Amino acid sequence: METILNYFETIPSTHRSILLIGGITLFWVLEGIVPLVNFKYKKWQHAVPNLFFTLTTIIINFALAGLLVFTALWVKQNNFGIINWLPEMPLWLYALLGVLLLDFFGAYLAHYVEHKVKPLWMIHLVHHSDHNVDTTTANRHHPLESFIRFAFTLFGVFIVGTPIAIVFLYQSLSLVATQFTHANIKMSKRVDKIISYVLISPDMHKIHHHYKLPYTDSNYGNIFSVWDRIFGTYMYMDREDVVYGVDTFPNEKENASLKHLLKQPFHKYRKPTTL
Ligand SMILES: [Zn+2]
Repeated sequence: METILNYFETIPSTHRSILLIGGITLFWVLEGIVPLVNFKYKKWQHAVPNLFFTLTTIIINFALAGLLVFTALWVKQNNFGIINWLPEMPLWLYALLGVLLLDFFGAYLAHYVEHKVKPLWMIHLVHHSDHNVDTTTANRHHPLESFIRFAFTLFGVFIVGTPIAIVFLYQSLSLVATQFTHANIKMSKRVDKIISYVLISPDMHKIHHHYKLPYTDSNYGNIFSVWDRIFGTYMYMDREDVVYGVDTFPNEKENASLKHLLKQPFHKYRKPTTL
């Protein structure tokens, strides 16, 4: 465990890039072999806005990383935060708790708030307005959303008290986990269900991408499914019944246009309708 944390404490940017590109490539290839939905789309054309948003997400996170490092150092020096207030525990448990709680504050809570606060929903809408959910959808976040998510992560690091090694470990796990949950790959329903007891499974997250409420407002989790189960936001529907997108923003052409997507958060508020 110590070796793992030592690695993540100083993980080079090149290794993070390899993880990002390697992950997309792996799932992209798998999508060609075992697709879940046979999309009639031009894969590269569809990927253009999504990869653009992936790039802006990287740039924003890279530019603000210093704040994370500073906060992680501060909590360590001051012995501040939930995991530091608990009794002494083995390192593996300390890291696991850190990752679990960061997943709550930095991802689940951020995502929940984005669905409930009107202007934030309009920003997060860009992620939901993809009609062809695949591995490139994972980081289809408007730049404003990247700032919002960063703020929640920063707050998470502060309140959880995670050292930078655990922050970088969490971010690396989160990167691959979201590529996996968005990937347009078909696994057996049984395997998917077993995964969903612990982690967010591809089918579980696809339900969140259904075009109508109440499903849009369910399964907010990022890596672990425990938060949806604790807070009662877990929902299930058959993968065959899932329709991607948001019913109140049905224009597929606009939803695939980078120019339009950049302006989408400034559109008048519309929430999805209920089934
Ligand atoms: Zn969402």
